Amino acid sequence: MIYDYLIIGAGVAGLNAARSISRDKKVLIVCKRSPWECNTFFAQGGVASAINDADIPLYAQDTISAGVGTNNLEAVNTLSQNSIRVIDDLVKDGMNFDRNEEGELLFTKEAAHSCSRILHADGDATGRELHMFLLKACKHEIMTDSIVVDLLYEDSICYGAQFIHNGADKIIYAHNTIIASGGVGSIYRYHTNSTTIAGDIQGICVEKGIPLKDMEMMQFHPTVFVDTPHARKTLLTEALRGEGAEIEDEDGYRFLKDYHKDEELAPRDIVSRAIFDYSQKTGSQVYLSFKNFKKKFFQKRFPNIYKNLMELGFDLPFERVPISPAFHYSMGGINVDINSKVKGCKNLYAVGEAACTGVHGANRLASNSLLEGLVFSSLSVQKSQEINFKIDLNKLTFKPRHFELKKQIDKAIKDDLRNLMWVNVGIVRESQKLIDVLDEVSLYLEEDVGRLLFLRLLTAKSIIQSAIDRKESIGAHYIKES
Ligand SMILES: Cc1cc2nc3c(=O)[nH]c(=O)nc-3n(C[C@H](O)[C@H](O)[C@H](O)COP(=O)(O)OP(=O)(O)OC[C@H]3O[C@@H](n4cnc5c(N)ncnc54)[C@H](O)[C@@H]3O)c2cc1C
Repeated sequence: MIYDYLIIGAGVAGLNAARSISRDKKVLIVCKRSPWECNTFFAQGGVASAINDADIPLYAQDTISAGVGTNNLEAVNTLSQNSIRVIDDLVKDGMNFDRNEEGELLFTKEAAHSCSRILHADGDATGRELHMFLLKACKHEIMTDSIVVDLLYEDSICYGAQFIHNGADKIIYAHNTIIASGGVGSIYRYHTNSTTIAGDIQGICVEKGIPLKDMEMMQFHPTVFVDTPHARKTLLTEALRGEGAEIEDEDGYRFLKDYHKDEELAPRDIVSRAIFDYSQKTGSQVYLSFKNFKKKFFQKRFPNIYKNLMELGFDLPFERVPISPAFHYSMGGINVDINSKVKGCKNLYAVGEAACTGVHGANRLASNSLLEGLVFSSLSVQKSQEINFKIDLNKLTFKPRHFELKKQIDKAIKDDLRNLMWVNVGIVRESQKLIDVLDEVSLYLEEDVGRLLFLRLLTAKSIIQSAIDRKESIGAHYIKES
């Protein structure tokens, strides 16, 4: 059987692509574990949107300023111009964003936005609410516990994918394949991402010669509580600073004023680098302080952060929380055009964090990625329906290989890779160290490792190579002069 669509990933981008495809089409969505093991589920702050027509160019301008002018302008305009329509459509279908007592949508402010334009749901659980809404709206089959290990890709045509479902090899053929597999978080030692997010499909793309773009552009979130045993570290959303939380050193000194005029609300890369630099120079622990909040407001506006931090032993808003930057978001990804069609491929699409439309440039504006997932996933479906490509299996020569997902040797290499990436390909980079780490990763690629680690190493290598190729500092890519 040939599916009309195979969608790899069940986050906002994959599920919204599925939502845009009518019930009469044969669609299969696959995801690694349970559907909520994805970054979408963990998103806190909200979804950005122009608040009215007059705000569309201002919102575009804020996106471009955060991206240091390196954004693809067509993609930025597409995002801002489609934002109101996409949100209206969600609300019409029953998505519950938070509202005031008069029933009007509530907008909050986040760093580098020139006005309050972030919608949120259940306070600080926007991702969970949006994900649940999209899951409930899903009219197509979702196959969980399915790990894609290869794409059936020949002569610029994707015939589907090979994956392992509950331990068994499976092949799915599809006329259109949409990659919505998210970013690369697990490649870094400290990160905020779901543990399912490890750049597997980006690695397959490297192997197949499918183009990646801007892989050096990795965003580090400035305010993360990293002192937990879990792989996924606890994010303290930007919206906290938007509502008045402050960054300070051990003595309560708000050192960000020495780095940027916008202090706590400067773009993410600037705040992350300032924290990194200040703690290196002074040895001081850095904190997020909530002293401007009343307890009742805090509990209502940030109920999940209140509860999660309480479980970790913090009494908010009275106690401050030690913070560090951690890897958060990949601006780089699979190189796609304005309709999210993979460049040079006939029937392969990439949407959401896995893709690089260039919309974020060198730095993503806060809360732009859920919207990106919504806007570009629906455009990809529209485009695929216009093209109406049909695969011909007689032309496919692909012979499936059996892959071992993991091998005994993997654990030590995986841990070392995470450390190498954090130390050398993180917030501050040095040219010689990048060259050295590229050699180390290349050597690991010669080891007999499991398939998932192999793909992770290929993706890491592409990040390092892109960082070497970009000689000047810009946005999230910062090269220290040696
Ligand atoms: C803690 C946190 C807070 C955030 N807060 C915000 C916010 O407030 N606003 C905002 O706009 N953005 C936020 N972001 C970023 C945003 O959540 C993500 O960029 C976005 O949700 C990505 O959506 P996606 O659909 O592309 O990928 P994801 O939601 O990450 O989904 C990826 C899917 O791909 C599947 N997958 C991966 N590899 C494979 C494989 N090999 N085989 C099969 N399936 C695979 C996974 O199982 C998963 O289903 C936040 C991110 C984090 C981590």
